[in-house]
Amino acid sequence: MGDFKVIIIGGGLAGSLLANGLLNNGVNFRLYERDTRDSKREGYQIRLGDSAIKGFSACLEDEQHRAILRKFGQSSSASSTAPSLFTSQFKKILDLTNLPTYSKSSAINREVLRSLLVRPIDAAGHVQYGANFTYYEVIKEGECERVRAHFADGSSDDGDILVGADGSGSKVNENVGLRNIVPLNTHWSFLGKGSLGYHRLQKLPAQLWKGPIIVFSKGASLFYAFKVYLPAKQGMDADSASSLAYDESEASFYWGLNIPRASVTKYENYSEIEDRRQFCLDYIKDWAPEFHTMLSTGSEDVDSPEVYVAPLRASKKPSNTWRREIQQNQPGNQEKGHPRVWLLGDAIHAMQPNRGMGGNQAMHDCAEILPHLLELNNIAKSGKLPSTQQVESACTSYEQGMIERAFAWVKKSGGHSVLTINLDGILGHVVWLLGKILVPLVSLMYKVLGN
Ligand SMILES: Cc1cc2nc3c(=O)[nH]c(=O)nc-3n(C[C@H](O)[C@H](O)[C@H](O)COP(=O)(O)OP(=O)(O)OC[C@H]3O[C@@H](n4cnc5c(N)ncnc54)[C@H](O)[C@@H]3O)c2cc1C
Repeated sequence: MGDFKVIIIGGGLAGSLLANGLLNNGVNFRLYERDTRDSKREGYQIRLGDSAIKGFSACLEDEQHRAILRKFGQSSSASSTAPSLFTSQFKKILDLTNLPTYSKSSAINREVLRSLLVRPIDAAGHVQYGANFTYYEVIKEGECERVRAHFADGSSDDGDILVGADGSGSKVNENVGLRNIVPLNTHWSFLGKGSLGYHRLQKLPAQLWKGPIIVFSKGASLFYAFKVYLPAKQGMDADSASSLAYDESEASFYWGLNIPRASVTKYENYSEIEDRRQFCLDYIKDWAPEFHTMLSTGSEDVDSPEVYVAPLRASKKPSNTWRREIQQNQPGNQEKGHPRVWLLGDAIHAMQPNRGMGGNQAMHDCAEILPHLLELNNIAKSGKLPSTQQVESACTSYEQGMIERAFAWVKKSGGHSVLTINLDGILGHVVWLLGKILVPLVSLMYKVLGN
């Protein structure tokens, strides 16, 4: 009888963080990643807060954890912030940082984080790159059931648990029969990013030093943030911007513009758009000049990264008994709903990026899934691999907590429809007024009750 073994499909944020937890606790595992080792990914910024920290604390050794926190530190958004809501005419409506219940976060480059997470796994020889998972089957080995994962190149690997951490296009999710991830086709989501040299930084609105800006206007929405690493002693506001010395190679900006498809008559598909940046600029032509400066930043670079279009997906909340229901509906198909196939991160709770919670929740999952895997590994150490009933009980326990927590955020992020509020009109005035009157009161109450 071999060791208890975990197979992880997907080496994104969740898969590689969980892999660290297994590595640091001596659990046998193998991580399969579809991309090649040197593939260039979208290095957009990601904002992380308490939930991600829970995942780091559970899975990483102190030095790894500190190395990641250092990448958050000393930036324009070092102190955790929340975005501010603006009208399309660049009038501030509400600084969400003032809402005591709004989750605060700090920015890190997603690819920098992912590299820090995957490096120790790679160094220990546990990652297989270029491995495109295609399907799994449940096999019998003596008395015990195991899972065999198959890959596009014809190879396969066996394990006691298969963890699907393969993101919002998850094949594991599809194979296990959950199929709860849906495309959001009402909007095109354009993403821009670039480096932030000193002269560019000075042209951007000072408000961005305080945190990201969000605009909701006539069905469209814009998110804009920048990140600059500052030497510890320097101030972090616009007033001191002119005297700043910082590492320009580490400074970056990032924006996302969701455009309703119904408002676009000229193109059937975004692939027909020749100049995506110009398309975005044309779309916001009636917005304040500040936004034109923001979206134009970096356009003059010969090698400026292309404006990217990201698929928007979200997920439907499964019931706590979804596995049993699937098994009852397809009794002859033992793969469907099988408790040895677990799901993690976007592979089960894909959500819209507007609340910046997908990655946070994916990493929080790791903190909750890890103790169950360690417990199963301990059972195996006593000489007998865990039975399917023991695995099922661990899976149910993990999933029940995760589903309640993560799907609350799927809902808060807009569920299955892209938020189309218009803060340029009356609603914007109401929010502004509430912000002036109610937010200070709520903050005061929160402080008093909190104390
Ligand atoms: C524009 C944008 C901004 C965002 N901002 C934030 C933010 O500020 N804060 C936040 O918390 N979240 C944010 N998110 C969400 C966050 O990026 C995701 O929730 C997070 O990356 C999910 O992690 P994951 O590991 O589940 O999936 P991913 O990071 O997507 O990783 C999945 C991995 O699986 C691999 N894979 C896929 N299919 C296969 C296969 N068949 N075989 C093998 N490997 C496979 C992929 O190559 C990938 O490496 C944002 C998302 C977007 C699009």
